[in-house]
Amino acid sequence: MNKNDIITLKIEDIGIDGEGIGKLDGMTFFVKDAVIGDEIEARITKLKKNYGYARVEQIVKPSGFRTEPKCELHRRCGGCQIQAMDYAKQLEFKENKVKNNLIRLGGFHADFVDSVMEPIVGMENPYRYRNKAQFPIGKDKEGNIIAGFYASHTHSIIPVKDCMLGVAENREILEAILSYMRECHIEPYDEKTGRGLVRHALIRYGFTTKEIMVCLVVNGRKLPAQNVLVEKLQAIPGMTSISMNINQKNTNVILGEQTETIWGQPYITDYIHLRDCTNFERTGKAISYHISPQSFYQVNPEQTEKLYSLALEYAGLTGKESVWDLYCGIGTISLFLAQKAKQVYGVEIVPQAIEDARANARLNGMDNVSFFVGKAEEVLPEQYEKHQVYADVIVVDPPRKGCDTVCLDTIVKMGPKRVVYVSCDSATLARDVKYLGERGYQVEKVRCCDMFGHSTHVETVVKLERKN
Ligand code: SAH
Repeated sequence: MNKNDIITLKIEDIGIDGEGIGKLDGMTFFVKDAVIGDEIEARITKLKKNYGYARVEQIVKPSGFRTEPKCELHRRCGGCQIQAMDYAKQLEFKENKVKNNLIRLGGFHADFVDSVMEPIVGMENPYRYRNKAQFPIGKDKEGNIIAGFYASHTHSIIPVKDCMLGVAENREILEAILSYMRECHIEPYDEKTGRGLVRHALIRYGFTTKEIMVCLVVNGRKLPAQNVLVEKLQAIPGMTSISMNINQKNTNVILGEQTETIWGQPYITDYIHLRDCTNFERTGKAISYHISPQSFYQVNPEQTEKLYSLALEYAGLTGKESVWDLYCGIGTISLFLAQKAKQVYGVEIVPQAIEDARANARLNGMDNVSFFVGKAEEVLPEQYEKHQVYADVIVVDPPRKGCDTVCLDTIVKMGPKRVVYVSCDSATLARDVKYLGERGYQVEKVRCCDMFGHSTHVETVVKLERKN
């Protein structure tokens, strides 16, 4: 067996990145874009001692789990990994991934995991669900200015006019930005040379309000002929906020620290409807949120509602509790919790997000929540050690790297009767619930929620209870 050989494979499993897995002569092959159940001819691209990588050359017999992808770029684009897989199968794959991580990395017994896991919450329609898109801007080989997405595992841009995960409005907005750049001779940023101005276009769309935010990320402090851009963008129905974010660093991080509003408001507003919350019952209104360019906001509004209901259900509040919401962003979960708790404290590292969170509390007339700017692993110990703060329930919703051990240790010291862990990375989730498990917290319930159809990512909520 050699590199470039063509082999015939039956795809029998799915890898953690959604790739197909097949075996031949004791070797395991990982094949991107192959779907479990496929029989394929594949070209070997890399060989190691007992495994290798291969590329699909021809599908001999398509799997019953194959479906016709809506985007013709799905194989090249790094955004979707499993669009060719039937959506029900995608959900099963995600649930299994979480289950396996809890077993392998969390040290739980398979039967135990089965007993605590509730069925995954899927989407009704897994297309056009994203309220946010970040398009890198660059040039193609002919020197034309393009916007699109990075090809998987690279930094070369594939021009994408209409991503099927994003809203249809993105297309017109990108067209306006590109035509401004062409007309006014504005150069896109070039990562290799560090020259050029426009790096990314960040677009947000409020699903309930139809408000649009555009933020251009630039390698500079000024946008030449800014009025031309504004004129083109403000003509688009729903345009509410146009801003410029300054990022002059040679980095993969998209946003820099400073944002300037160049037209309209510094934020857009959106609503999340949670039907079982008291605010909705009282006023018939959902909770409204101001969202700034730099703040985190869940990208899938339909599923966010389900995710937050789940977090609220697992928190099991009666109205008497003191609750901490760590990694709170703009206070989305905090405000839902606050309607059923005595007092909520939110902690978040991004100052602009906390500004939004405070404004959001005022906007919704809630006076039983307060927010702290800082790292959860610094604010919580400080509040606990200096001010002896107390918690009945702690909710955490950390980024992919999970919680810092100082944060987990403080949670254990504070001894809340319940911890609700919301996670976008089941590997770090498994590590952290194992850590809490060794310190007196037992997993009661686990449920996945699909926020990111066609990608391999999955959101999970875990309810932990303090033993005795
Ligand atoms: N719960 C919010 C946000 C979750 S995303 C929501 O559902 O909308 C994770 C958040 O954690 C981001 O807002 C990020 O800025 C913040 N964050 C990252 N590291 C942090 C840390 N060490 N301490 C506190 N917040 C942090």
